[in-house]
Amino acid sequence: MDNILDTPKEKWTTQDSDELYSINRWGQGYFAINDKGNLTILPEKSKEGPVIDIQEVLDEIKRKKIALPCVVRFHDILRSQVVTLNRLFRQIIESAGYRGRYFGVYPIKVNQLREVVEEIIDAGGPYDYGLESGSKPELMAALAYNTNPNSLTIVNGYKDATYLRLALLGNKMGKKVIIVIEKLSELPTLLSLANEMQIEPVIGIRAKLSTKATGKWSDSSGENAKFGLTAPEILNAVKILKDAKKEHCLKLFHFHIGSQIPDIRCIKDAINEGARIYTQLNKLNLKLEYFDVGGGLGVDYDGTKSTSDSSVNYTTSDYIEDIVYILKQICDLEEVDHPHIVSESGRAATAHHSCIIAPVFDQINPGYTNYPTDKSVSEHILVMNMRDILGELSSENVQETYNDAIQLKDEAANAFKLGVLSLDEKAKVETFYWQIMNKIVQLKSSLEFIPEELGDLEKEMASQYLCNFSVFQSVPDLWAINQLLPILPIQRLNEKPEVLCTIADITCDSDGKIKRFIGPEDDNCTLSVHQLKDNEEYYLGFFLTGAYQDVMGDMHNLFGALNEVHIFCDDEDPTDFYIEDHIPGGTASEALTYMQYNPQYLNLTIKRNIEKQVQRGKISPKEGVNLATFFSECLNDYTYLK
Ligand SMILES: *Cc1c(COP(=O)(O)O)cnc(C)c1O
Repeated sequence: MDNILDTPKEKWTTQDSDELYSINRWGQGYFAINDKGNLTILPEKSKEGPVIDIQEVLDEIKRKKIALPCVVRFHDILRSQVVTLNRLFRQIIESAGYRGRYFGVYPIKVNQLREVVEEIIDAGGPYDYGLESGSKPELMAALAYNTNPNSLTIVNGYKDATYLRLALLGNKMGKKVIIVIEKLSELPTLLSLANEMQIEPVIGIRAKLSTKATGKWSDSSGENAKFGLTAPEILNAVKILKDAKKEHCLKLFHFHIGSQIPDIRCIKDAINEGARIYTQLNKLNLKLEYFDVGGGLGVDYDGTKSTSDSSVNYTTSDYIEDIVYILKQICDLEEVDHPHIVSESGRAATAHHSCIIAPVFDQINPGYTNYPTDKSVSEHILVMNMRDILGELSSENVQETYNDAIQLKDEAANAFKLGVLSLDEKAKVETFYWQIMNKIVQLKSSLEFIPEELGDLEKEMASQYLCNFSVFQSVPDLWAINQLLPILPIQRLNEKPEVLCTIADITCDSDGKIKRFIGPEDDNCTLSVHQLKDNEEYYLGFFLTGAYQDVMGDMHNLFGALNEVHIFCDDEDPTDFYIEDHIPGGTASEALTYMQYNPQYLNLTIKRNIEKQVQRGKISPKEGVNLATFFSECLNDYTYLK
């Protein structure tokens, strides 16, 4: 494939940007570029449906005086993802002649925000879509928010007596709560609590499959997995149930082999193994009704449709077809009734609906060349030599000049350390050096043969775009586990991006950088962006952040939660939208309180210090008041740069 960046500037179109940033590949039809060169959102995956210009969203955010960086949630995308998943399950179940139903549940841990959970429950209502919890607080939320009497509440995670009691409370309220046994010792506790509370529990068993997933979360599966029962433990659990005459309470079989499974073969294997256990259990005179395949349905973050860790080699339909057809085949063979199918897809349901918009506020160029290099009277030989080779640089001597420049720069660095070269002379040498490198980059395109050393020169000279956000707060997986996310400018997409950059955030941590982007494996260490303009703001969008990212961040450097807006399409006007909700981000005071500081104490201490200086006559009383007010205003301010 030709390199898209070889397209001349004058011929650049929005299609080229689409291809360069793989928008169509990771965007699943939810994102496109309009004629103005702005990124747009298509919640119905079609230009016939609503089209939201992200620049207009940004204007609205500014009109409402909401500070950036900002999380933007598109509730219509969230709804569409939930509906699509449920519809596809229904369609495929029907065309396969499968005799069970689909009862999906949303795992709250993937994005616990109340508004997200409410939207999912609402969109999933017609499909009896339920909730999954992995802890006591999540279950408390699920019990209150899962109001549909037909949908399931699946209770996963390690459980103490209180967690089990909470789940049984749900059964008491008439809800379809299924308690999944993750560890054999939970079972006797559950039986005695249920006895005490005088309620029949509905029980599930999580199996530890021997099928091992690939990808970054593969530790959730295989012999050393944290959760689930091995084959002997499953059979022991059955014995415990039979001894207690509670075998009729066992209704669900569950497994979860990891999140973001890149390879469909792992999924096929797991379904196969799970279906075998399921059918065997039914032959032990048990009447199981549900087959729960857990999560794992992946998102194609890098748009490569491959088995790379940030991609998937299958579609949602492929995934569902494999579940339905494999399960049907094995049940038919073993003459076991088709169970209802449960899945716990969180990532696939939520990833697309939210993004982060952050302003670029400055850049650092390694090739900084803005220093006067006028000839001085007794110029050092190293400076003179650098000046000369710059003057003589032409397409005839590119490689030679490149080598000489590197050598002279090294010599200058040594000379400076020995005290032979002044700081002014060192600055001149470095300025010449970068002027030479810049000129070499320009000359390169006219060369017939490009020497290998010069191949990656542009990348070595990549700028750092300074972005007003924190990697640790907003895209933690990118930092912690090297996951890739689509990142791109949200404007000027009708213009060729001629600058290669990496991204630096505003934390004081040298890890607060992004140096890997989606794109071909061997060519993804820089991002193509546009030259910044004076007096024109430039924004980067970080996409597919709705799953795990925007709820898992930490407060590195006490940069707090981001402002957040919730966007809804206007039913009347397909190009219009409204911000229904604005959740204010964290203030300095909140970030400090979280770490046990007392803002009132800080205020008081600063005020006293100022007063002392006033008494000493170093600050006027009026200035003192202003300074103290300024400090207390800062406490109530957003933690990011203004
Ligand atoms: C985390 C988790 C999920 C969600 O997995 P996704 O891959 O995000 O869909 C589902 N089930 C269990 C048991 C989990 O721990």
